[in-house]
Amino acid sequence: VTTKFSKLEAEALDPIIATMARYAADPNPNKMDVSIGVYKAADGSSFMFPSVKMAKEIYNKVEPGHNYTTMSGLPEFIPVAQQTVFGDKIAGEGKLATIQTISGTGSLHMAMLILRSAGYTNFAVGTPAWSNYIPMAQHIGCTTSTYKYYDEETKTIDFESVVCAIEEASPKTVFILQTCCHNPTGADLSKNQWKTIRDLTINKDCMVLFDIAYQGFASGDKDEDAWPIRYFYEAGMEFVVCQSFSKNLGLYGERAGALHVVVQDKDSLPIVHSNMVKNFREECSFGPAYGARIVSTVGSTPEIKKVWDQDVAGVAERMVTMRRRILDTLTKLETPGKWDHVIRQTGLFWFSGLTKEQTERMISEYHIYLTQNGRVNVAGLNDANLDQFCKALDAV
Ligand code: PLP
Repeated sequence: VTTKFSKLEAEALDPIIATMARYAADPNPNKMDVSIGVYKAADGSSFMFPSVKMAKEIYNKVEPGHNYTTMSGLPEFIPVAQQTVFGDKIAGEGKLATIQTISGTGSLHMAMLILRSAGYTNFAVGTPAWSNYIPMAQHIGCTTSTYKYYDEETKTIDFESVVCAIEEASPKTVFILQTCCHNPTGADLSKNQWKTIRDLTINKDCMVLFDIAYQGFASGDKDEDAWPIRYFYEAGMEFVVCQSFSKNLGLYGERAGALHVVVQDKDSLPIVHSNMVKNFREECSFGPAYGARIVSTVGSTPEIKKVWDQDVAGVAERMVTMRRRILDTLTKLETPGKWDHVIRQTGLFWFSGLTKEQTERMISEYHIYLTQNGRVNVAGLNDANLDQFCKALDAV
């Protein structure tokens, strides 16, 4: 067969999609999915946040139609996105250039474009990291460098390595730092470590990109989880924030997110913003409305906002409970090895430390699907399947 596309070679499936496909094809009735980072309810079902349900009821009554939004997004979404990350006070100070984006991934892409235009073309990624950072930076012709973020031995952040990477970075390097619930390791920087990073970056010709995809899931409090961002802001720094509502409102498929660029100079801010809008225009034209409408309704309706606070606190609490129960169960089973990192790590992910071979055995012998790097989505566990999970882990 001849084709005009013969120059193309097949691309491998994303590993997580491959794992999910294997899960779907597994006929075992007791199979368990703890792979992809989606929050699930205590009964294992997919979860609609009560706050989202309330917002949708309002939204359905208003019937806003299907008109275009604007090229910087749904107007009423922007202040809600800003207030969620920065708090009301900072959001009112006029130093944020914000556009709505195609969720967190789209925000990262738009961030990379604006930073590239500003001359910041090398992206430093601490490993292991969310698997898309490096391909995304390379996709737009930027360079990447890596440094060790997490130490497999101690199962904590290798902070010396982080410090060293910042100290030795070439000019115009962008440090992609996850604000909370680090994916995949669950190991977050402490306040003291953030202080050191701020001291190291404040007078350096580099850029900090905060990726905040799980705001609220670490401490249960969205404001507390955004502390590092607000702390950098208070020092008068310029940086960028990539925000996603996929997880903390359970809006995965709606693609609601934002890019915020902190610009200290009043005259430069509209210029930066106009470049962000231009980039978005040339790739996406208009922001999608549905998810943004839900977010703005939740964030601007005080009684729904309160419910959202409770929703997020409930998720964090459930994760803490499940983590505690994993540790207790493994302790009871006298599973060889040290497992206290399960309670030290935060958010959806537990970076279990299972090897590739052990992970493969979890899948092929016990029908428990985790990602190949041994990452477990703690939200996939519940009263009905936790023992089954721990026994399999004990066995491998
Ligand atoms: N950043 C991190 C650390 C993530 O874990 C994810 C999603 O898993 C994203 C960004 C992208 O999120 P979204 O689905 O909103 O594009």
